[in-house]
Amino acid sequence: MLPDVENLIALQQADKEIHRLKEEIAALPKRVAAIEEKLAGTKAALEKAKADVKTDEASRRKYETAIQDLQGKISKYRDQSLAVKTNDQYKALLHEIQFAEQDIRANEDKILDLMVNAEIREKGVKAAEADLKTETAEIEKEKNIARERTAEDEKELAEWNAKRDKARAGVQPDTLEHYDRVARHRGTGLAEVREQKCMGCQVLLRPQTYNEVRSGERTVVCDSCSRILYYNPAHDAQMTAAAATVVKRRRAHPKFDASHAWYYRPEYGESGEVYLSFTNADGSSTRRVYDVHTGRKIGDTLTREGEYRLGFPEDLNDHAVRLNGNWTETEIDEWGDEMPMVVLDNLQRDLDLARAEVSAAGRSRAGAVPVQHPAAS
Ligand SMILES: [Zn+2]
Repeated sequence: MLPDVENLIALQQADKEIHRLKEEIAALPKRVAAIEEKLAGTKAALEKAKADVKTDEASRRKYETAIQDLQGKISKYRDQSLAVKTNDQYKALLHEIQFAEQDIRANEDKILDLMVNAEIREKGVKAAEADLKTETAEIEKEKNIARERTAEDEKELAEWNAKRDKARAGVQPDTLEHYDRVARHRGTGLAEVREQKCMGCQVLLRPQTYNEVRSGERTVVCDSCSRILYYNPAHDAQMTAAAATVVKRRRAHPKFDASHAWYYRPEYGESGEVYLSFTNADGSSTRRVYDVHTGRKIGDTLTREGEYRLGFPEDLNDHAVRLNGNWTETEIDEWGDEMPMVVLDNLQRDLDLARAEVSAAGRSRAGAVPVQHPAAS
């Protein structure tokens, strides 16, 4: 993997952690504020309950005073009734006394109501006081937790910032600028490639782009979302599953005298790594050459006299690795200038397996097969 990409992976992780920590640090005072608001509400409820008790007490005193006044009036009327001259006057006073007595009873009823109410009011005050006590203790606890967590977060944040600086220093300036620009717009500037797809935008990569990412030779960006792409074979579920199947299965060996034959060459003139496809037909043979990374056809199809071993002996040197491949001439013709991804993958898997066989055989034929994986950096 490119050092730039390795550093960008570290940078992306640091950016993610820094973002998370900053959000957490910002959220903690909000949680404390929410509890403080609740506490203020409970304090107000307690004040109101206490005020209600006072209002009731004032009302009760008012009613008691009224009763005393009325009782005063009644004794005055009684005194007057002893001195009245006429029956009518006497009746009028008696009436006044009855009115006053009615008033007294009304006031007494109101006092009774207040007394019943006072019990409820007292309970309200006690409950509000208990709530206040609980919430005060809770807020102290929350404040302590928030303080501790913030201190921890700040420490972690400093560590991640240091990691971030280190990662940034390890990326070439233009690549870093590209990463920053894409990250600003899309949230992330880097995406993994799995199953030939960009995990950032889920768009399928063109075979050439896919191969470039897998080869890890230069920085490649996604055509559709511009994120910088990287490939980790260990993460690619499809490839891992395929590799697992391949390991379990014994590799089929190509028939020596097959009419079609595929070979891998680690170097092929100026073309680097190539796949060679040979076909025998009617006493002559044809050869096609493909780039290992892009699947693109190199040069024209060549036809020579005799079966391919006789026709193209210079192609089959000690470094050539025979591979399994069973595509008909018609199929191969249909590919045109670029072999399909599935073919490229099949050949790659068979090549991996062929190399594994050589490694397992004790590497006795050193140099016969290159052990270096073309996708390895
Ligand atoms: Zn993308």
